[in-house]
Amino acid sequence: MTNPLLQTEGLPAFSDIRPEHVEPALKTVLAENRAIVDAVTSETAEASWETVVLPIELMDHRLARTWSPASHLNAVVNNAELRDVYNRCLPLLSDYQTEIGQNEALYHAYRRVAQRDNLDPVQRKVVEDALRDFRLSGVALDAADKERFREIMQRLSVLSARFEEHVLDATNAWSLHIRDAAELAGLPEANQARARAEAEQRDEDGWILTLDFPTFHAVMSQAENRQLREAFYRAWVTRASDQASASDSWDNAPVMDEIVLLRQEAARLVGLDSYAAYSLVPKMARDPAEVVAFLEKLAARSRPAAARDMAALEAFAGQTLEAWDVAFYAERLRRKTHAISDEELRPWFPVERVMAGLFQLVEKLFSIRVELLEDVQSWHDDVRYYRITDAAGSDRGGFYTDLYARAHKRGGAWMDDCIGRVDVCGRHVLPVAHLVCNFMPPVNGRPALLSHDEVLTLFHEFGHTLHHLLTRIGYPSVAGINGVAWDAVELPSQFMENFAWDRSVLKSMTGHFETDEPLPDDLLERLLGSRNFMSGMQMVRQLEFALFDFRLHSMDPPPQGEDILALLADVRHEVAVVPYPSFNRFANSFSHIFGGGYAAGYYSYKWAEVLSADAFSAFEENPDGLFGGDAGNRFLKEILEVGGSVDALTAFVNFRGREPKIDALLRHSGIGSEEQATAA
Ligand code: ZN
Repeated sequence: MTNPLLQTEGLPAFSDIRPEHVEPALKTVLAENRAIVDAVTSETAEASWETVVLPIELMDHRLARTWSPASHLNAVVNNAELRDVYNRCLPLLSDYQTEIGQNEALYHAYRRVAQRDNLDPVQRKVVEDALRDFRLSGVALDAADKERFREIMQRLSVLSARFEEHVLDATNAWSLHIRDAAELAGLPEANQARARAEAEQRDEDGWILTLDFPTFHAVMSQAENRQLREAFYRAWVTRASDQASASDSWDNAPVMDEIVLLRQEAARLVGLDSYAAYSLVPKMARDPAEVVAFLEKLAARSRPAAARDMAALEAFAGQTLEAWDVAFYAERLRRKTHAISDEELRPWFPVERVMAGLFQLVEKLFSIRVELLEDVQSWHDDVRYYRITDAAGSDRGGFYTDLYARAHKRGGAWMDDCIGRVDVCGRHVLPVAHLVCNFMPPVNGRPALLSHDEVLTLFHEFGHTLHHLLTRIGYPSVAGINGVAWDAVELPSQFMENFAWDRSVLKSMTGHFETDEPLPDDLLERLLGSRNFMSGMQMVRQLEFALFDFRLHSMDPPPQGEDILALLADVRHEVAVVPYPSFNRFANSFSHIFGGGYAAGYYSYKWAEVLSADAFSAFEENPDGLFGGDAGNRFLKEILEVGGSVDALTAFVNFRGREPKIDALLRHSGIGSEEQATAA
């Protein structure tokens, strides 16, 4: 029987992949790749692009192609068997990566290639990125330190996976059984229907509310029952912590302690002061001081606005607000001042209609076509597959969507690469992406209706998807989002969000789910008028996460246990305006930095928002409107198509004609431009 994870043509055979395929496939590819490295390094006398770099690029592609479906399934249809085999594979993968990164013969071969003067600029970027990564993997260390570095990397990969598992298990384990309908007052009908269906499925009466994001969000912003909101808030912010009501075997505190210690030790081993400094080496920001100054400057600008937001909210509520009251009264105040609410808007945003509008938009912007392909096999009935073709009619790639929340699926929204683009030596592989969200699923035959926030999320992830798919680069390590400085990677995603605030785009992507009537003008104006509602509070919340992350990874020695909580409390004292109950253990479920790739990198959202807002202002300045002129075409050419083959600042300057300015971000968020802020 052939192993579906070893197939190298077409889309992954998702419905044929079984847990027992994962480990043998990985071992096969790792063994083949090691043989390639041996072969490449035995002929280094003639180190050239073709004899050294190309084979390594292709073997990395092969490994990603085998591993990506397995890690994707682990994230979206998690189960004990798959988790077990995934965890067995992590150390194999980590050891392999460290071994390649520390291979001196390979490093010297790359150095010899770098000395040749026949490399084109893209090839030079590939080689220079690789040399930097060798140094960051400890290639220059002595044998004992190399071994310690390897151990650290292996342990970190295990700990990150454990962190995610604890969050997932803690989220799945919690539910609330409600027997009295009065307790659900204010909760939208769709959420109530879903809770009733959950109870029926478990053979219970009443309603069972689960802790997925759509339910959590609906309760926090709409449930009139204060005890219900408090219960949900407590459950959410104590997940995977000592304060949780459920199993303490999911407490992430010891996992976090060990992660920050090991990251710091790894950074020290390769000669850097902190993990923050280590993390910045491949990023746009030059050093930790620049990042801290950037965040503190934004905080100083936005904190007064946030304090005004909070004061307005308390005046409106007529009482001192607790953390579980803020979203609820904010929604009420929004209804009062802007005459608009999430629930009122949803009927105009059925998911299919929004997707069609999004596809029309990118057709206008980038001259591409997106079409649904039927009969593509996948891992769940909710999944769809779309193909992208360009103006010349050429296939550019495709993407899977998996949009709805369900049990055993990781929370949040993300884009991940499924297959990377290859175009070398007669080999052509088109890129494929995963676009994953956690929206409310359709209930009772009614289509999934999105809130405007969810529309923004969809546009955001679609921006990442286009970045991965529209690349013209054929070398895997710098194709699509690969090789893009992490603090610039949110440029295309946040850029796309801007369009979900444009009148003509909103008109064309809305259609009432019963009548297909587009969003009425008065509702549209009220939505646009509410854009900067509570934007000061939103800004400081992002800054709180970013500052906590960055300081956590800058300290030597890193804080442990209570001191991590104290650090978060300090940051909150400095920037936050929402009260913070002592049981809050937000950090224990902060997957971006402990489970995902945003360690000492959460600031990237704000950093890249300067770029994305400034990039969008090039469209706003266009005298012929957003779609006139050639800004779309230039964004396609200078940002999306080049992927990681050009350094991020150069790519931005090539598009914008100058270096980025912060003004557009401040203007879009209603916090005032540089000049106004100085004057005020
Ligand atoms: Zn993103």
